Amino acid sequence: MFGLIGHLTSLEHAQSVARELGYPEYADQGLDFWCSAPPQIVDTIKVTSVTGQQIEGRYVESCFLPEMLASRRIKAATRKIINAMAHAQKHGIHITALGGFSSIIFENFNLQQISQVRNIKLEFERFTTGNTHTAYILCRQVEQVSQQVGINLSEATIAVCGATGDIGSAVCRWLDANTDMKELLLIARNQERLQALQEELGRGKILSMEEALPQADIIVWVASMPKGMEIDPTQLKQPCLLIDGGYPKNMSNLVKHPGVHVLNGGIVEHSLDIDWRIMTIVNMDAPARQLFACFAESMLLEFEKLYTNFSWGRNQITLEKMDLIGQVSRKHGFRPLLTVSS
Ligand code: NDP
Repeated sequence: MFGLIGHLTSLEHAQSVARELGYPEYADQGLDFWCSAPPQIVDTIKVTSVTGQQIEGRYVESCFLPEMLASRRIKAATRKIINAMAHAQKHGIHITALGGFSSIIFENFNLQQISQVRNIKLEFERFTTGNTHTAYILCRQVEQVSQQVGINLSEATIAVCGATGDIGSAVCRWLDANTDMKELLLIARNQERLQALQEELGRGKILSMEEALPQADIIVWVASMPKGMEIDPTQLKQPCLLIDGGYPKNMSNLVKHPGVHVLNGGIVEHSLDIDWRIMTIVNMDAPARQLFACFAESMLLEFEKLYTNFSWGRNQITLEKMDLIGQVSRKHGFRPLLTVSS
């Protein structure tokens, strides 16, 4: 059995979902209540591969909300993730993806050192961040959708916002090795980590967001921002492809401007319907078929009986592992989402 640990994007979102799912006692509550709410299994999932194989999974709602980080309720945020992991393990789940901010909190607050949760000794090999598959899917989206919107990669400047992150750095490595892009722009706040990445790649210009955005033909958004930022489309090139892989989204506004194409990043489509309701809750356009690539990674590991923390730690994603997860992804009928809005 596979598992998905997820969270909602804001307190407002959580309240409306609680109402929809029939948890009225959660619906009218403020952040303090969510800080003390325990994790819950709220969905049972069946997935069929195009090979005919069927697997079953569970969605564990951690009850973490991004506002907990913004309001410095760090202890509550870390407890949410660790308790959700213990909950998944207690229910016998073999491999569980840590979706959205779950893996970011795990890493940033060094939760590896908390291995005992009440009577459960956490077995970290039962968890994966799902970031290898996410990075792979984002790269394929860059390659395939750029062609679709008339951007020639060999003449393109690609900006990666969140370049030094786990996903961002893997995207930079893959694009460098597998494409003939003209220029790579690296965006993040910490200059030391940016310089280390630039050294590792042997290329890439370090620029601020304000400097980079107007120069880019393609922007890959993978920054860990608890709240999205406003983008002024008149500052962007035309055509420009914006691939937003953030969860919550890095871009807070719906960008509608001639020549600016927006794509939901790190999303896969499955070839067959999935029996679940969780993707309706996160407002996916085609909820029976579309899902976050990190969640799909735990499904792939379950299909392949690869019970190992395939993606773990930070900046450990190799090109070989991206290729491997890409092969398995295709084998079971997943493909990158390629539909842009413009
Ligand atoms: P990491 O924490 O590893 O990296 C985050 C990156 O963002 C770092 O480079 C960080 O650098 C940068 N960053 C953070 N805040 C800002 C800011 N305000 N301005 C510029 N750069 C910033 O995160 P991950 O790589 O694990 O995840 C990245 C995003 O992808 C998250 O939004 C996450 O929720 C999402 N995600 C999506 C998945 C999917 O399936 N679609 C799966 C997993 C994650 P610095 O701190 O130096 O600024």
